[in-house]
Amino acid sequence: MTTLPATIREVHRGLQAKEFSAAELAAQTLERIASQEPRLGAFLRVREQVMAEAQAVDERLASGEPLRPLEGVTLAVKDNMTIKGEEATAASKVLTGYRGVATATAVARLRTAGALVVGKTNLDEFAMGASTENSAFQPTKNPWNTSVVPGGSSGGSAVAVAASEAVLAIGSDTGGSIRQPASFCNVVGMKPTYGRVSRYGLIALASSLDQIGPFARTVEDAAHVYQAMAGVDEHDATTSSQLVADVVAGLGESIADMRIGIPAEFFGAGVDPQVAATVMSAAKVYESLGAKLVNVSLPLAPQALATYYIIQPAEASSNLARYDGIRFGPSVRTKAGLEQIYRQSREQGFGTEVKRRIMIGTFVLSAGYADAYYHQAIRVRHMLREEFDRIFDEVDVLLTPTSPTVAFPLGARTQDPLTMYLADLLTVPANLANIPAMSIPGGFIDGLPVGVQLMSREWDEATLFRAGHAYQQVTDWHRRVPE
Ligand code: GLN
Repeated sequence: MTTLPATIREVHRGLQAKEFSAAELAAQTLERIASQEPRLGAFLRVREQVMAEAQAVDERLASGEPLRPLEGVTLAVKDNMTIKGEEATAASKVLTGYRGVATATAVARLRTAGALVVGKTNLDEFAMGASTENSAFQPTKNPWNTSVVPGGSSGGSAVAVAASEAVLAIGSDTGGSIRQPASFCNVVGMKPTYGRVSRYGLIALASSLDQIGPFARTVEDAAHVYQAMAGVDEHDATTSSQLVADVVAGLGESIADMRIGIPAEFFGAGVDPQVAATVMSAAKVYESLGAKLVNVSLPLAPQALATYYIIQPAEASSNLARYDGIRFGPSVRTKAGLEQIYRQSREQGFGTEVKRRIMIGTFVLSAGYADAYYHQAIRVRHMLREEFDRIFDEVDVLLTPTSPTVAFPLGARTQDPLTMYLADLLTVPANLANIPAMSIPGGFIDGLPVGVQLMSREWDEATLFRAGHAYQQVTDWHRRVPE
């Protein structure tokens, strides 16, 4: 093969025409990763085991078994999801050497569909961040310009797809961690409705917000990955037993008469006017396809960021209480007593941002402050959900920028947590409202990609994928690759 296949279709075409075997594809992908990693740092670990797994795919096909939906397709997995017996660190020193006791349901389902996991990708420690610079191990660079960040926290997964180190990737999105790096790297990234994809085997950040979702070059491929992962799981009580619609089958349906809401609050204060203008051109593309643009208002949306930065640290601080140096990862051995083992293991194991969130979270939950902060934030979240519910009586999808700016320089925001948090301005509303949302490539400013965010009502991923796919049928931003 001269160039690596970029989509599921291309992989399947090549396998069926016997242009390459799964083992050849896996070997060339590992070579590609080896050549790109010194420059990009997207992976924390590569899986040599993938070679044997690819050979098993070739044997299946040789024995005449039918092609499964993701047969032989390379997949990169964010390192906050577990594979039984293999290391998973969430990019934290606290989990160095930790091995998964089971395989995450999302990963297991993708492997059952035939996907080949080539490696585990870098992230901000415990998925806290918007640049992948909070990784305890390495920063990841943006393949469009290695002096800017790839976004985060799933920066490694976004870069893996953007730099052709894998055809597909998965990440987790608590406040934008799939969509924002997708927008910075010119790939598709999608967060399902809360409860659609099992969180079993996902190292928890904020349990009422976390969802696993796909990265791909095309909306069609993202739909395949979503479909393979979605649905009830006995290991996660928050998964819904609602029927998962066949989103792939619905992709080609017309979007004429689709009502697309343009919420004013997502184009104003804090949003780069050039980004806003680029995203409005994408809206015009929809209009040319017969969709109807509707100006709408979500007055509570500007409160979403402050609300998120109370609820998220609150849940994170309680989830992270388990890392005490006893059950997971390295332990500081001291004769000074159990209390000191806890203290020193946590002091040495956690990075600065994680400690900051543990302190914020503990504060907003503490007696005397919980009413003023945590409980108040929960009320605002309910009101925001109701506001989104009402808007979807008027429109089918919402269209906004994914991020207020294009990718920023490495180091530019690491000393100033508040400006780092502002990167999440436009993505956190969907997590607080539990609704599905997606970022698709929508243009460039000075050589850096701009993402267009689409959101739809709860459980209506089908409409979201259909809208995204329609845009990719008439644009070619997603076909542009770095270098
Ligand atoms: N940037 C956001 C944060 O740091 C979102 C993270 C995420 O979605 N995991 O909280």
